Amino acid sequence: MIQENIQRIQQQLAGTAARLVVVTKTHSVERLQEAYEAGARIFGENRVQEMAAKHPELPADVEWHLIGHLQTNKVKYIAPFVHTIQSIDSLKLLLEIERQAARHNRVIEGLLQFHIADEETKTGLTLPEAEEILGSEEFRALRHVRLTGVMAVATFTPDEDQLRREFRALRGYFDKLKALYFAEDEAFREVSMGMSSDYALALREGSTLIRVGSAIFGAR
Ligand SMILES: *Cc1c(COP(=O)(O)O)cnc(C)c1O
Repeated sequence: MIQENIQRIQQQLAGTAARLVVVTKTHSVERLQEAYEAGARIFGENRVQEMAAKHPELPADVEWHLIGHLQTNKVKYIAPFVHTIQSIDSLKLLLEIERQAARHNRVIEGLLQFHIADEETKTGLTLPEAEEILGSEEFRALRHVRLTGVMAVATFTPDEDQLRREFRALRGYFDKLKALYFAEDEAFREVSMGMSSDYALALREGSTLIRVGSAIFGAR
C-alpha cells in the first residue's frame, strides 16, 4: 500500500518541478523504511524528539524536514542532521538555528512559515513581519542558515475557492520576497504547500513541495 501510494503521487508530480515530502509523524520506523524502499527521500516530522529518535534508524541520504512548531531550546537536538526547518516563524529562532548549525559546522536550510489560514490557532508570519526579519542586519549576518523559500498550512476545509485564495496568497508572498530580497539567489525557490486532501490544487497554484502523510500511510 505504502509503495503504491508513493508511486501514484510521484506519477502526479512527473513533469512538474515539485517534490514529495513524505510526512512520517506518528508512524513506526518500519513504515518509514518501507517508504524509503519505495523511493521516498524527503521525510517530514513535526516533533523534535520523534525526528531525533528516528533519524539514526534510516539511511543517511534521507533529507529530514521539520514541519511543526520549533521552540528555540530544542534546536540543538536536530541541528546535527536536520536538512530543512520548514517552520521558521521568528528572528529569534533563526539566530538560534545559526548558533547551533555553526557549532556543527553545517548550513541548515529553512523556510519562512506564513499564516494564511482562517483559524486563529494556525501559526506563522505575516508579510510585514517577514519583511522586518529579512531587512534586519542580524538576518544579513547569518552564515549557517540558508532560507530557501516559504511554507504554510491552509485552512482545513473542502472549500476549493478558499483553498485557492490561500495558496495564491502564499505564492504571492513568495514572489514578492523573491523580487525584493532574493532576486539573485537561486536557492530561494521553494513554496511548500498542499497536504493529503489538497495537494492537487496546491500543485496547480505553484507548490514545489507537497507534504503528504495520510494519503500514503492511511489515517493516523
Ligand atoms: C501532518 C502534517 C501534514 C500532512 O498531513 P496529511 O493530511 O496527513 O497529509 C502536512 N503538513 C504539516 C505541517 C503537518 O503537520
